[in-house]
This record gives sequence, structure tokens and C-alpha cells, in this order.
Amino acid sequence: MSRLPIISDKPSTLVDAQDRNISYLRVSVTDRCNYACTYCVPEGGVPMVRRERLLTFEEITRLVQIMAGMGVRRVRLTGGEPTIRKGLVELVASLSQVEGIDEVAMTSNAHLMESMAAPLAKAGLSSVNVSLDTLEAGPFAQLTRRGEIDRVVRGIDACIKAGMRVSTNAVALRGVNDTEVVALCEFAWDRDIVPRFIEHMPMSSGDAFDAAEQFSSAEIRSALFEHYGEALVAEGSDQGKGPARYWSVAAGTRGTRRVGIISAMSEHFCSTCNRLRLSATGKLHTCLAHDDALDLKQILRGVSATDEQIRVAIRGALSLKKPGHEFDPSGAGGPAKHMISIGG
Ligand code: SAM
Repeated sequence: MSRLPIISDKPSTLVDAQDRNISYLRVSVTDRCNYACTYCVPEGGVPMVRRERLLTFEEITRLVQIMAGMGVRRVRLTGGEPTIRKGLVELVASLSQVEGIDEVAMTSNAHLMESMAAPLAKAGLSSVNVSLDTLEAGPFAQLTRRGEIDRVVRGIDACIKAGMRVSTNAVALRGVNDTEVVALCEFAWDRDIVPRFIEHMPMSSGDAFDAAEQFSSAEIRSALFEHYGEALVAEGSDQGKGPARYWSVAAGTRGTRRVGIISAMSEHFCSTCNRLRLSATGKLHTCLAHDDALDLKQILRGVSATDEQIRVAIRGALSLKKPGHEFDPSGAGGPAKHMISIGG
């Protein structure tokens, strides 16, 4: 299959006022989800947008082509739950053909992966981060409000079998999964995949956020240290490959086992942020924690918007990217947008 050409007038130009080079784009393909995790979606849900307001696959592909021409190299599909958007395999196939894009990845709950992993991998999906917050069936159903742990485990195994690189993501929550740090690691390491823990961020003015549930990176590290002792060694971050900082445990014949911690709150990494986010309705967000966004869909659907007009608009939005987030650990005053709408 021939590759879709880069749309570019200049070499890499996505550098912001803080000199951060943008090479990573997260694309939310739907604001709907088959789960409704309590830390992500407030009780009562969030209003869903009408389907015609979503970017079409052609529009997403055009924007990715344009941004590839400006230096974006990695695309991660997210949501809502990306696997519930009809035709997703075709979108992956066309994005993985965009010249300049080195990796198409996805964040998913893996509920549908048992049947979708193989076609997605064949279409060019190379890596999946699977949300897995607890291994206990009851708490899993409660936390996700409708999830099935057995199904998710089968989905994870299907992703591994399909040859994709797999990580698990757990939002660390006191009283929910703080006693499962080691179990979640062992679950992942038994499958030769990497577990990661994420600090809970207060989105949507904190309406799905309980500050008392915060379980910090330091506490996650303590739980690991208590179990693995001196075998636990700090590795640092994977340069440009995401915000996690890694630790590893030497495991004799089982090789080295890694665990990632994403300290979004207590030790944030905004100074190395390399990402932009495109919402399902075509809003370009320069930061998860701020509500300002550029309405790219309006520009795209305007009378024959040229690629150059789109590039100018993207550069303009990037020039306003804030130096850092201003999440308040109490959960007060967070952004009005919901995680389910922007995709994490
Ligand atoms: N449905 C997919 C999934 O379950 O992974 C993708 C969407 S989900 C919004 C993307 C990521 O955001 C997941 O890893 C989820 O755990 C994380 N997330 C959601 N709400 C969060 C919050 N308040 N703080 C930190 N991470 C959050």
C-alpha cells in the first residue's frame, strides 16, 4: 500500500514559546464509552455530542497529514472508548499510512479487544495502553460501573497475541486499589508487559474527584519498595516517549521487570510536554488542564480552508500553550472539560 504524502511547506515547526517540540498527538475519536469509570465520569454522566459533530475519518487523516508535516511523529487514539467508533480499523489503516507518522497507538479499556486486536494490529496499530485499575471482579465492576474484568484480561491477552506492545494503566486511588500495586505489577510482568500507575487528576472542576482518594507517586513507590526492597531501581523516563518515570526490579531468570509512574500532580512533567490533543469534535487543546482550545473543525469545514490556513491556526494555538498545568490538589477550580471528552 502506498503511503499518504506528508502535507508540508517547511520542516518541523511545532515548537512552542517554552521551546518544547511537539511530536505527539492524542486524537479522541469518540466522546462515548462502554464503561463509565468513577474517576473519569461524574455520577449522572456527561452530555454526549451528536454524531455529525464528530470529526470524520477523512478530516482526522487530513489533520494528521498536516501535523506530520509539522513534526508530529506519534499518534494515540483515545476517547471515550475508541474501539466503539464504527470503522476504527480503517482509520488506523489510513493513519498508519501517513508519511512521517512512526507509530499509531491507542488507549483502550480492552472490553472489545478479544475480537478487535488482530484486525487493529494488521491495520498498523503497534501499541495499546489498557486501563486496568483493579484485578478484583467486584471492585472492577463497581469502578467501571459496567466493566467485566475477565473480558478485559482476554482483551489484553489478545493484544499481546496480536503482537502489539501493551502497557496497563491504573489510576492510583486510596481505598480502591492502593493495596493492589504489587498484584497489578505481577499481573503485567507475568505477561511480559509494563504496568503503569497514574496520579488522579481533578478534571471537570473536580466533580469526579475526591482529594481523599489521592494516592501519590511517593506512596506508590513506597508500596513497591516495601515489597521489592533494594531490588527496586530508578531508571528515569523514556526520552520523548511519554510522561512516565520508570523503576525496575531485577528478577533473576525472569529478566528485568519495569514499572512506570505518571506523577501528573505531585511531580509534574510539564516542562517536557511534547503533546497536543484533538477532541472528537475537532477542538485542538494545548493542555489537559486548561479549557482554551482552537476549533479546528470550524476551520476545516469553512469554505475551502487551505492547508496553510490550518497550519497558521495550529501554530497560533501552540503559541498560547501554557508553561504548565495549574491543577489544584484539592480538586477545586479544575478545567470544565471532562476526561471522557478529551481522552486523557
Ligand atoms: N476508554 C479508554 C480507556 O479506558 O483507557 C480511553 C479513554 S480514558 C479517558 C484515557 C485514560 O485517562 C485512561 O488511562 C484513564 O485511566 C485516564 N483517566 C481518566 N480520568 C482520569 C483522571 N481523573 N486522572 C487521571 N487519569 C485519568
